[in-house]
Amino acid sequence: MRPAVFLDRDGVINRAFVRNGTPYPPDSLAALEILPGVPEALNVLRSRGYLLVVVTNQPDVARGTLSRGVVDGIHARLQGEFHFDAILTCFHDDTDDCDCRKPQPGLLLRAAHDFGIDLGSSFMVGDRWRDVEAGRRAGCRTFFIDCSYDERLPSSFDFRAGSLMEASEIILAQLDLR
Ligand SMILES: [Mg+2]
Ligand SMILES: [Zn+2]
Repeated sequence: MRPAVFLDRDGVINRAFVRNGTPYPPDSLAALEILPGVPEALNVLRSRGYLLVVVTNQPDVARGTLSRGVVDGIHARLQGEFHFDAILTCFHDDTDDCDCRKPQPGLLLRAAHDFGIDLGSSFMVGDRWRDVEAGRRAGCRTFFIDCSYDERLPSSFDFRAGSLMEASEIILAQLDLR
């Protein structure tokens, strides 16, 4: 069993585009912008033995406002650059009633099953309540990156961080305490 860091995508790995207080994914490959410190944070977490699994809701595909091809292209680019252990995507919307759209923990549980992940020693890093709640339901410790979106806050989380880099520093500090 190995620990993992589960990573939300938009607002954690790449820049989210905020309109009227709500974050949106890049609408093209050209709009993909990796956030500062992300490559370094991923490298250090990997070097300390964490699997790196992206878990992302992309409901705009079901809503018809974003093409599946754009999402696939972005994931191919991210995979080429960062070699994640997996990028798992929910393409559904709330009305589909799936088990993978965060706050449901389906994507995390599937990864845990497929990769032999110890959820209790794993972390979820996200910028929205749905990410934090999915991590909590899966039994992970959770990070909330607060980007001040105009939406509800997570009801609870274990750590607050300003960026993935800061979250990785906190994770490593926890390791050093043991
Ligand atoms: Mg996000
Ligand atoms: Zn789904």
